[in-house]
Amino acid sequence: MAEARRDEDRYFDAEIQTMPLERLRALQEERLMRQLDRVWSAPVPFFRRKLEASGLKRADLRRLDDLAHVPTTLKAELRRSEEEFPPFGDYRGAPVSQCVRLGASTGTSGRPTLILWTRKDLAVDYAASSRGRWRWGLRPGMSLANAHPFGMNAGGWHFSHGIEGLGCLNIPSGPPVGEAHVADVVEVWRRLRPDMYRLFGNVSRTYSDAARARGLDPERDLNLTIAGDHPSEQYLMASSGLEALPLLGSACDERDGAHLAEDLAVVEVIDRHTGRALGHGERGNLVVSVLEKDNFLLRYDLEDIVRLNTSVCPCGETHRRLFYEGRVRDVVAVDGREILPIDVALVLYDVPEVSTPSAEYQVVRTKGTMTAVHVRVEYDPTQGVAPADLTRRIEVRFRERLQVPARIELVERGAAGRFAYKAARVVDE
Ligand SMILES: [Zn+2]
Repeated sequence: MAEARRDEDRYFDAEIQTMPLERLRALQEERLMRQLDRVWSAPVPFFRRKLEASGLKRADLRRLDDLAHVPTTLKAELRRSEEEFPPFGDYRGAPVSQCVRLGASTGTSGRPTLILWTRKDLAVDYAASSRGRWRWGLRPGMSLANAHPFGMNAGGWHFSHGIEGLGCLNIPSGPPVGEAHVADVVEVWRRLRPDMYRLFGNVSRTYSDAARARGLDPERDLNLTIAGDHPSEQYLMASSGLEALPLLGSACDERDGAHLAEDLAVVEVIDRHTGRALGHGERGNLVVSVLEKDNFLLRYDLEDIVRLNTSVCPCGETHRRLFYEGRVRDVVAVDGREILPIDVALVLYDVPEVSTPSAEYQVVRTKGTMTAVHVRVEYDPTQGVAPADLTRRIEVRFRERLQVPARIELVERGAAGRFAYKAARVVDE
């Protein structure tokens, strides 16, 4: 009896998450056909134009496999559509009058695009969020403090609704905004001792430093332990952006890639030079077609680099797993190989002198052919390590792990430039 209850408790949505693959593909096909119908019936002029320009009529698209004929769409095209048909563009699946929330992409690679949600879109996103966070071990009755920002391009709304949808007590504490706020947050955490925290690198350090300054022990008094910043942590979650499906997947206890929500999105990994579909373990671009949402995108190429794990997972979930590797614009071509910041980080975490408590580094990209990966790495000269020896050991690790020559430039702690949320790991010089 107890055994059965544990099993029931294992998945957020057992029927969907353990659905046999043939049935899952049939479900995707049915849902995709509904979205394709809407391209012509709603209509969605942007997609209709693209499909017809490549010679496709609705009747040509009948099977899941036919999706491969649909041209991919880049963020720049959404931006252009918004410029030509202001303010929302002509790629929306639902009329603006039916939308209840606006968001904006972060705009790190150009003018931000606008995001719209209907009530149904929000419900789909929240359910995906709840499913993803259930895998963290969150269960109804537990409490969780998070420091997500709220606003137009913030995941705080989705995160919070997902947690609340699980039946957990959500403690939306926000990122630190001045001493008074930090003190208030620390005091609430002291009184509640949340079961779980969701903070980010520098944010968790700011809060725990403030707790210590008040004579508190973060772990004992707040139940707050600073999570490791190990680069492999980025393999535990997958997103396709607020504009597609924000929580595309999360890792189960196997911690071997993030189980995708394949009932809500068709996920492909393609070679960005040839468009060829890639299989198990091959790095390529993440391409997502959104199912079930009123505002949907077809074959949206996020210009993110990912890798699929198509092996059967011992946890019982059937949806494939995905590793998020980085962004296309952060690729550094060295000696015929494509290197991403995570490759560099994984090498540096083999060397404790430059990765304790965290590795801070920049990959320096230069124009023209690079014959060695140039990495600026922070180290602590007061710890008595000989720089020449340290440099040599790191360079050897690069050769061993990545089969590329490296040029290591050691700089003092704090010199490689940091940002509150995401450090710029690749700089062009
Ligand atoms: Zn699993």
